[in-house]
Amino acid sequence: MFQRCDDVRVSEPEVRRTGDQEPQPSRVAARPRRSRRPSRGAADARSVRAVALVVAAVLLGGAAAGVVVHERGDGSDETAGAGPSDAGATAPVSSPARTPDPTPTLTPAPTPAPTPTLAPSAPPAPTPTPTGLPRQDRDAGLLSDDVPESASGDLVVVPGSDPGPGTGAVHSVRVEVEDGLDVDAEVFADFVMSTLNDPRGWGADGSLSFARTDEPAEIRVVLASPDLTDAMCAPLLTRGEVSCGRGGHATINFRRWVEAIPEYGNDRWSYRRYVVNHEVGHLLGHPHEQCPGAGELAPVMHQQSYGVAPCVPNPWPALG
Ligand SMILES: [Zn+2]
Repeated sequence: MFQRCDDVRVSEPEVRRTGDQEPQPSRVAARPRRSRRPSRGAADARSVRAVALVVAAVLLGGAAAGVVVHERGDGSDETAGAGPSDAGATAPVSSPARTPDPTPTLTPAPTPAPTPTLAPSAPPAPTPTPTGLPRQDRDAGLLSDDVPESASGDLVVVPGSDPGPGTGAVHSVRVEVEDGLDVDAEVFADFVMSTLNDPRGWGADGSLSFARTDEPAEIRVVLASPDLTDAMCAPLLTRGEVSCGRGGHATINFRRWVEAIPEYGNDRWSYRRYVVNHEVGHLLGHPHEQCPGAGELAPVMHQQSYGVAPCVPNPWPALG
């Protein structure tokens, strides 16, 4: 504080020094000096000293008074200026009440959007089969279990060839399907060839095997509607019910292919093996056979489509 006071006092003479007026040549110095009598000179000297003392006393008193005044005012300002140590102590009465800072209002955080909860996934529905048919029917090439009495009457050769196992005498086979039947012809062809070349088939002893072709063949295996079957099997009487093997073709009645026969129960898969082997057996020169005895396996050349008893059903040439 006193430093500030000192600064104020020091500044006054500097203001004078830095005034714009250039110091003027003293006129007193230019006057000719008066001569003074010695007696009056001594008296004047005493008078000057007295005046100087008075002036000095006045100046000292004023200076002291100035210091006090300045300290008071300066201190007040300093307090009002809130020194660090006083800041939180006692608020000056004259200080305007501070407007309390508005209490920060917490902006309510937006309610987080609920995380979408995945509904428990339902177990995937079983893939519907294209036809809704049991596996054993689809594996036989069926796309429907509807049995029309007739279709287009036109036979379509199923394209493809396969040399088969190649053992023994190789018999060429061409597979044909009547156009208009609801059948996967390729699947049907595979079923036919896997039946013929099964280890329990006509080639079980290794004497023969079957090769598939879509060219003219020794054996034609045909899937036909009941009406076309009757026409192809004539003069044999199939009556729209059964199949036949003659004239180089084994014609399978579509009705039987779909429905099978009661003796095979629900095992339509085995009956279809039987009918292929039986009709092709005719083409290989095998005649019908009789049931050898009750409980025996029916020979594949037994007319099982008309009844199996007292034998038991058997679709394989090597077993019956
Ligand atoms: Zn027969």
